[in-house]
Amino acid sequence: MNPNAAEPHVIIRHCDAYYSERIRAILREGLNEMKIVPKGRTLVKPNLVCAGDMFPHAHTRAEFGEGLLLALQDVGSETMTELAVGERCGITIPTRYVFKHSGFDAVLSRLDGVKRYPFEEVPQVEVRYTHEKRLRDYVFVPEPVAKADFFVNAPKFKAHPWTTVTFSMKNYIGIQDDRHRLIDHDHRLNEKIADLQYVIQPNFIAIDAIIAGEGRMLTPKPFDLGLIIMGNNQVAFDAVCCAIIGLDPRTVDHIRMASERGFGTMDIGKIKITGDVTLAQAKERARGFDVGLIRVEKYFEGTAITAYAGPPPENEHTDYCWGGCPGAIEEAIEILRTYDAECDKKMTRLHVVFGAYDGPIDAKPGEKVVFIGDCAKWEGKIADKLVKVESLYKDRSTKDPYKAPTNDIYAKIKDVTMALAGTRKDPYVRLEGCPVSVAEQIFALVSLGGAKNPYLDPAEAVRFNEAYLGWRSSIAFKRLKGEKYQKAGACPRGNAAPTVATPDTGAAE
Ligand code: SF4
Repeated sequence: MNPNAAEPHVIIRHCDAYYSERIRAILREGLNEMKIVPKGRTLVKPNLVCAGDMFPHAHTRAEFGEGLLLALQDVGSETMTELAVGERCGITIPTRYVFKHSGFDAVLSRLDGVKRYPFEEVPQVEVRYTHEKRLRDYVFVPEPVAKADFFVNAPKFKAHPWTTVTFSMKNYIGIQDDRHRLIDHDHRLNEKIADLQYVIQPNFIAIDAIIAGEGRMLTPKPFDLGLIIMGNNQVAFDAVCCAIIGLDPRTVDHIRMASERGFGTMDIGKIKITGDVTLAQAKERARGFDVGLIRVEKYFEGTAITAYAGPPPENEHTDYCWGGCPGAIEEAIEILRTYDAECDKKMTRLHVVFGAYDGPIDAKPGEKVVFIGDCAKWEGKIADKLVKVESLYKDRSTKDPYKAPTNDIYAKIKDVTMALAGTRKDPYVRLEGCPVSVAEQIFALVSLGGAKNPYLDPAEAVRFNEAYLGWRSSIAFKRLKGEKYQKAGACPRGNAAPTVATPDTGAAE
């Protein structure tokens, strides 16, 4: 499973500034030290999540990307047949938007012949799973991922409210387009990430830990770590990153599961660690790093929002849905706060309920209760009215990736608007979905709580719509040209003859 037969090796290097040439030299030295030579179709996967002016610390920086691409060219100019950067950023955001506003487009225009793949604009390839304990038998990934000969994972060193941390393995969530990413993005998210490890393993990993992201995922606080970390094995790499922030990697389920499935060791004693910064020195730099794993009830304490959470279905796995709706509302409110510092002061009092909650809801007359997610379930009195909310949860076996719905942002606005329409006078409202995404929860908070709508921010609206229309036009043009997306034999790693699904067109399929 590990493409690098060599012993797991992690290199920790000092780098305290985003200078492409310095980064290039460090990464080239890392490749040479590990004797790694890129070859064939080489694909770099950064984490561009929601890159832009308002989100400066959430993504792999363009200077880092430039240094990495140059280092790969330095070492592999004779052996690579293609060098490309591919990504599917945060859902509903056009990836071409983050390529442009992260600075990656400018980097690509400076470098000779490096391709760009917004993953939602390319054919999606079916990959079969046959391993034990898999969540499903097949998934879809973008064709450039399935066809890569040499895969470079270039994540950002960050905390994460759903999975504790996002280092190398968690960056794989961005190898699926929206419709496929949201399947199993719930209380079994860690298992989904562990399953995705069977799609491809990186030949080289280089994480942007120069300014790390603390506490949150989309709007992290900057944490000056001054490090570039490289590796040749994803489990060992993530284990060392955990060790740096004083976290036991066995407590991060996707790392533990991948290790148990044979993808690598979490035992620091079995990992070769070199570089000009020792593990002890790296730990000292990371002292106090906050992972921000916090339950939703606690998260909203002292604000206008009161949260209540019960267990999701299949509660043999967990008593809380770490990978779904509760974490999404934490990210949603942080985005609203980013666009409006007065957000909390302006917010109307709201009560939000997740899972099979079995307790009182302290809503005064006129205060709205919002049941979020298909698994929300509750019975009791709100404003002296007897209320019974039934679970609408559908078993994951009923979710077929071939029939996964699209997640167009304007369709989401319409859906949430329709769900809320006519409920102004009702004491409660329900938002359906599993999960209810960050974008949908933003609209709900805007509509019900009176927060400022970030999608209508004048600085963003024009740029966002420009990228959105470019994405849609590109897909429409490909369809007009009759580009065939149902191709056989596209995935060399799948166990079955693969097929290719139509890219996200916005049409209901
Ligand atoms: S509906 Fe939301 S809270 Fe419930 S299982 Fe799905 S993602 Fe989790």
